[in-house]
Amino acid sequence: MSVAISATLAANEALDHRRRAGLPVLPLAFGEAGLNVHPGLERRLGAAAGRGAYGPVAGSATLRDAAAGYWRRRGLPADPDLVVAGPGSKPLLYALLLAIGGSVVVPQPSWVSYAAQTRLMGAEPIFVPTRPGKGGVPDPELLTGAVSRARAAGHAVRSVVLTLPDNPTGTLAPEDTVRRLCEVARELDLVIIADEIYRDLVFDQRADFPSPARFAPERTVTTTALSKSLALGGWRIGVARLPEELRGLRDRLAGVASEIWSSASGPVQEAAAYAFGEPAEIADRVTASRRLHAAVATAMAERFAEAGARVVAPQGGFYSYPEFAGPVGDHLRERFGIETSADLADLLLEEHGVGVLPGSAFGDPPEALRLRVASSLLYGDTPEQRDAALAAPDP
Ligand code: PLP
Repeated sequence: MSVAISATLAANEALDHRRRAGLPVLPLAFGEAGLNVHPGLERRLGAAAGRGAYGPVAGSATLRDAAAGYWRRRGLPADPDLVVAGPGSKPLLYALLLAIGGSVVVPQPSWVSYAAQTRLMGAEPIFVPTRPGKGGVPDPELLTGAVSRARAAGHAVRSVVLTLPDNPTGTLAPEDTVRRLCEVARELDLVIIADEIYRDLVFDQRADFPSPARFAPERTVTTTALSKSLALGGWRIGVARLPEELRGLRDRLAGVASEIWSSASGPVQEAAAYAFGEPAEIADRVTASRRLHAAVATAMAERFAEAGARVVAPQGGFYSYPEFAGPVGDHLRERFGIETSADLADLLLEEHGVGVLPGSAFGDPPEALRLRVASSLLYGDTPEQRDAALAAPDP
């Protein structure tokens, strides 16, 4: 099977290539916050550096306890025995898909890796569109038909993946959509994988976050990580929580993990446990990061709207997803010969050194001129500038 490098990482490499050639670059493709590591976490990582041994496959008891506490504070029951840690939520999600098996319902558009991982395991992504402006969750009204057709065609459809809030659109599906989706998933006997990696970056942190585990607790696996809220993508640590009803899946997941990563990094787990415990200094950092991203992502969306693009106001994360439809799209076609979102992304990179991702990488039709723009690395080049951005009262 030929596997192309993930669009996000490929964009990063193209930017790196230009940078090494001495050309100017503006990296707006990669999904990371570009902020400094919190000094409290750095200290804990350093103090744990002596932990050189392999650890338990599912993660250290300290980390699993802390992650369970993190979810309980958000109103979701969590048993440390049913928490599994892995080296980032990306491999954890892949291990989950392998442990569940079968085809996966993937929202369209959605994060690049769900469909790629499904194909990697030799199964078929079943694409179901989201409702416009309500990203991350397949339209519940279309789910039954799509799954029935796929099953009739011989695909064993076993799971559906949801992203709350969403990448690439930065929007959060409303509660009634999530609730309805959960009902349909129950009727269709699907496992729900709720990827909540951007949850702490929802701009409006209300208590009623529409976590699918609230509506279909018996069939929902929730995943998260520290990569986005604390800018720790390079540390590679993610966690999943499963309900008692899916204990068998937890065991299969641990089995898959044992054959792929054995155990996540011991020192990183130690520091991550501190972060998931959310002491005041860490909670404050996440709040500052959320405020900063809210200001930057909202301003970005406003600029796109002023320039004639169609763009939904982001509700969380650090993305904006403008669509260059209507007169601005016509202008791009006539003046620059742009036919696809990939053409547009290429033009921005080659002519201006600006790295963004085409909507087609997220499963949108190529001719819909949509781009995902990340606010990553807008906060300054030096550690001092980055700390100053976080400290600013009104970014
Ligand atoms: N899920 C979503 C929706 C993402 O956007 C990303 C990263 O871009 C990930 C998961 C993977 O993050 P990590 O492997 O760093 O935990």
